[in-house]
Amino acid sequence: MTDLDERLLVGFGDVIDRIVTTPAGTAPVITKGRGGPVKSRYSWMRVYDETRAKFGRPLTLLAAERLRNEVKTGDYVFIVTNSHEMDGPPGSAALARSLIVGLNAIPVILANYGENTKFERSIPQSCIGAQLIPVADQGELGGSIWTPYTVLIHKWPEMSVKHAEQEAERILDEFEPKALITVEAVSCNKKGIRHGALGGPRNSGDPDEEIVRWNELLEAANKRRILTIATGDNGNECGFATIENIMGKYHEFCADCGCPCGGGIVSASKADIVIPANSSNWACYGIEACLAKILNKPEVMHDEYTHNRILLNCANVGIPDGASAMCTPTTDGSSHEACMYIVGLLRQTVIMSFVSLVRESR
Ligand SMILES: [Zn+2]
Repeated sequence: MTDLDERLLVGFGDVIDRIVTTPAGTAPVITKGRGGPVKSRYSWMRVYDETRAKFGRPLTLLAAERLRNEVKTGDYVFIVTNSHEMDGPPGSAALARSLIVGLNAIPVILANYGENTKFERSIPQSCIGAQLIPVADQGELGGSIWTPYTVLIHKWPEMSVKHAEQEAERILDEFEPKALITVEAVSCNKKGIRHGALGGPRNSGDPDEEIVRWNELLEAANKRRILTIATGDNGNECGFATIENIMGKYHEFCADCGCPCGGGIVSASKADIVIPANSSNWACYGIEACLAKILNKPEVMHDEYTHNRILLNCANVGIPDGASAMCTPTTDGSSHEACMYIVGLLRQTVIMSFVSLVRESR
């Protein structure tokens, strides 16, 4: 690669990063109860700036490059997400699609959900929107001409710390994934407490309590030197301990969770690469765009029509937007149009990056 090629690639990555980390088309504040404390999204851009400086390379590009290097045909990739709001399932589904189309990988989406609930349906429906076939049985991942686009949805139960540690080792032994990507997967802070985006404890802190636990899985993956990538937009998502010092400067609830634990909301686990974006979904779309670029395959980036289907499928099982709490095909207080335009802009940025213009006299 020439020096110019490298500069063009970094420039491309920076454009993609800025698209997905900027709160364009997004409600800028959330107020915790009427008259309560106001949380602004704008400070999140400073979190991105410092994280970009820390890693020394565009974050979505770095993630795509590491995925390309680590993941070969037929390798499993774990995607860890939540099933209960609009930020998570759509990004996971779109990312799963890009891993298949771009790298011939086999995605496994891990999430916690109750059986026969809308939360059980949100991820499969998002995957269907993303042109994939969700399956619940590993045997359906291969073996026929109808299996190349299947994706395994695996239920991760509520567990004690000890049980989660054992289950993490077991599932890593079983699949030997080459990468693990977290998409809006909230996990405990260093005091063992899970918090919402606006602070407030969600569990007792007792390690024997059976709750959704992701830190144990991420830490087990890190120990095995499996590539770990975390996406998030608040700091309470697993993997964000990597940038805890940055989070504390710009996010009041990361510095002070406002609950007796006093640990701040930042997750206790670290990831190799952390992408603080306008939403976790948008970070996934950014990784897709960079994969499309470095693989020279624009089709790795899903299009606007597919995107509309993903968002509608997820919302239409009754899943709320995590910011507004309304059941809309949107993410974290960004409008539906903004979500559509962002994917359109990413896709056009990929397509136009292959166009070279020459000005000359005839
Ligand atoms: Zn707390």
